[in-house]
Amino acid sequence: MFLDKFKLEDRIALITGGTRGIGLSIAHALGEAGAKLVLVNRTDPVGGVQELKDAGYNVNFFEGDLLDRSVPQKTIDFTLEKHGRVDILVNNAGVAQHGDTEKFNDDLLDKIMDLNVDAVFRMCRSAIPHMKKQGEGVILNIGSISGLVSNIPQPQTAYNASKAAVHMMTKSLASDYADQNIRVNAIAPGYIRTEMTNLPKENEHWYPTWNELTPMNRMAETHEVASAALFLCSPASSYVTGEVLVVDGGYTIR
Ligand code: NDP
Repeated sequence: MFLDKFKLEDRIALITGGTRGIGLSIAHALGEAGAKLVLVNRTDPVGGVQELKDAGYNVNFFEGDLLDRSVPQKTIDFTLEKHGRVDILVNNAGVAQHGDTEKFNDDLLDKIMDLNVDAVFRMCRSAIPHMKKQGEGVILNIGSISGLVSNIPQPQTAYNASKAAVHMMTKSLASDYADQNIRVNAIAPGYIRTEMTNLPKENEHWYPTWNELTPMNRMAETHEVASAALFLCSPASSYVTGEVLVVDGGYTIR
């Protein structure tokens, strides 16, 4: 009975940034649980779509740049055209940029806020009317421990602020749509091994600090976030909404 609650047979899951990194692992988790997948990315550098198809999952790919304001609605339209519904929306695509605030230019600031915050809002805005019509829906936003604490040594005020906004958006949406049977949750990952945390040589000395400040003394692999995502996207979490689930090896407990 309990394992059945993790099943997503024929559920339609739309994942932004699903062709690599954390998004690709989440796609594997939801695909393995039976969901039909729709991914939206600008590119597919590591062949994530093929990897998911080879694993036997039903996958559609929408090539789009979420910085383009029209793309969120287009991805929802594409999903409806393919499957007629959208059951699960995972807002995973995001960008991190380090830099001292006094030298941080407007283009970088706009990119971070437009992708990490505004695009998430637009995706939710486009998906919610269909979830309301369906009488159910699940939204999962990928936030960060950087939305909870100011992690060091990297200066990244804009990124931290963007992720705090994702957490608050999650709670607000959860509150607004709980009575429509739409659950909205977030995951706040700690340091996960992906392209995003693949530091250039001059910043490699940050790794020991990251590990020392993490009680489990290591970074995580993407699948360790994906299993939490499966929980939050499936009926196993049927009474969980507005939650920011921290997956950080203990970073934020100290
Ligand atoms: P990656 O850099 O590996 O992946 C980012 C994903 O976002 C890619 O799939 C990328 O696809 C997509 N993306 C970026 N820009 C756009 C765009 N303009 N339009 C559409 N898609 C876009 O990062 P991670 O897997 O590490 O990060 C995933 C999420 O997890 C992010 O929100 C990140 O902030 C968050 N996170 C990551 C942590 C980590 O330690 N790695 C820690 C905490 C949170 P493409 O470039 O092909 O478009």
